[in-house]
Amino acid sequence: MGDIAAISAGTGELQKKLVAIRRRLHQYPELAYEEMRTTQAIREWLAEAGIDVAEYPLKTGVVAEVKGREDGPIVALRADIDALPIQEETGLPYASTIPGRMHACGHDFHTAAIIGAAYLLKRREESLKGTVRLLFQPAEEKGTGALRVLESGALRGVQAIFGMHNKPDLPVGTVGVKAGALMAAVDGFKIEVEGVGTHAAVPNAGIDPIVAAAHIVTALQTIVSRNVGPLQSAVVSVTRIHSGTTWNVIPEKAVLEGTIRSFDERVRSEIKSRFERVVEGVSSGLGAKPAIRWYPGPPAVRNDEHLTELMIHAANKVGLRAVTPEPSPAGEDFAFYQRELPGSFVFVGTSGPHEWHHPAFDVNESALEPAARLFAEAAETALIRLSEGRDDHPNGL
Ligand SMILES: [Zn+2]
Ligand SMILES: [Zn+2]
Repeated sequence: MGDIAAISAGTGELQKKLVAIRRRLHQYPELAYEEMRTTQAIREWLAEAGIDVAEYPLKTGVVAEVKGREDGPIVALRADIDALPIQEETGLPYASTIPGRMHACGHDFHTAAIIGAAYLLKRREESLKGTVRLLFQPAEEKGTGALRVLESGALRGVQAIFGMHNKPDLPVGTVGVKAGALMAAVDGFKIEVEGVGTHAAVPNAGIDPIVAAAHIVTALQTIVSRNVGPLQSAVVSVTRIHSGTTWNVIPEKAVLEGTIRSFDERVRSEIKSRFERVVEGVSSGLGAKPAIRWYPGPPAVRNDEHLTELMIHAANKVGLRAVTPEPSPAGEDFAFYQRELPGSFVFVGTSGPHEWHHPAFDVNESALEPAARLFAEAAETALIRLSEGRDDHPNGL
C-alpha cells in the first residue's frame, strides 16, 4: 500500500504508474473474448492496491469493487479491454509484440485510466458513501461484451454507470460531454438477390441478379436523402457486393452487405422498413427474389441528463475543460448498459494523430491521470448525490 499512498497524493507517481500499465497492455493486445493475459494483469494491478475482485461468471474481463459505506448506493465505472486484428505501424518502442494484433482503439488507455480511478477511490474508501463497482469489459469490438457482463449479474444493484472513449480529435485537457445521443445505433445487413442463371449472350433467358443488385444499391441511396428528415442524421452504406464466377455467365445470385447507423430509435425502425420495401420493390420489378438478413448491433449511446451535468461538474473540479462534442456515427456497446440504467459516456481528449482503428493510431498519455481523476470524482459525487437522494431524478440523481 506504500506506493499506492504516494500514487494518490499527486506526486506524479500515479501518472508514471498508469503510463507503465498502458504500455504493458499495449504490448500484449488480445482480441474479443481472448483477453486472458489482460484479465490476469488487471487482477494483479488491482491486487497491488488491495482492491477486491468480485467473482462473476465471466471467462474474460474483471469486476472489482471499492467499498465505502456498506448500506450505501452502488455506481459503476466501465472500461473496455479488447484489441483489434490490425498490424501496428506506429514504430513505438512499446508497440504490439503480437503480429496482426493492436490496441488501435485505445482500450488500453481506458483500462489504465479506470485502474487509476480505482487506485484513487481506494485511497478515499473510508469516506465513500457507497460502493464503486469497476467493470473491465471484454469484447467491445464485437458489440456483445456488454451483454455478457449484464448476463453475469455484475450490474445488479448499480444505480448509475460512467464510461469513456478516447477521442483523437479533441485536445488533451478537454472532455466531450453531452446529454442525449452521442454514438450511433448499429445495424448490419445482408441481402441475397436470387435471379435465374443463363449464358451471358442470352440474358433474356434468365433473370440477372447483378443488374437487380446495382439498382438496389442506387435506390437505397434515397433512404437518407428522401426519407430521413433533414435535421435527423443516419448512414446507409453498402460495403460489399459479391456475384458471379466468370465473364460469360450470368450468375444466379448476388450478395450485398452493409451497415445502417442512426441516433434515434424511431428513425432506426423507419429506415429498416423503408429499406425492406425498397429492396423488395426493386427486386420484384426486375423479376428477382430478395432475402434480407439483419444483424442488429447496440442501440445509440444516449446520455442521462443528470449524470451528464454531474460529469461536467466533475470535469471542472479536476481541471478538465468540458466541451460539447459532435456525435460519432460509430457504435458502442456501452449503450446496452444505458438500456438498463442511467449512464453517461464521455469522450476524453487524447490529441491523437489518427482516427480510431488506424494502424498508426496513438493516444497522448498525458491524458491518463486527468481521466483517472475525472472518473474517481464522478463516482464519488454520484455516491454522495444518490445517498442524499438529492434532486428529483427517479434514481435520486
Ligand atoms: Zn473500436
Ligand atoms: Zn473503442
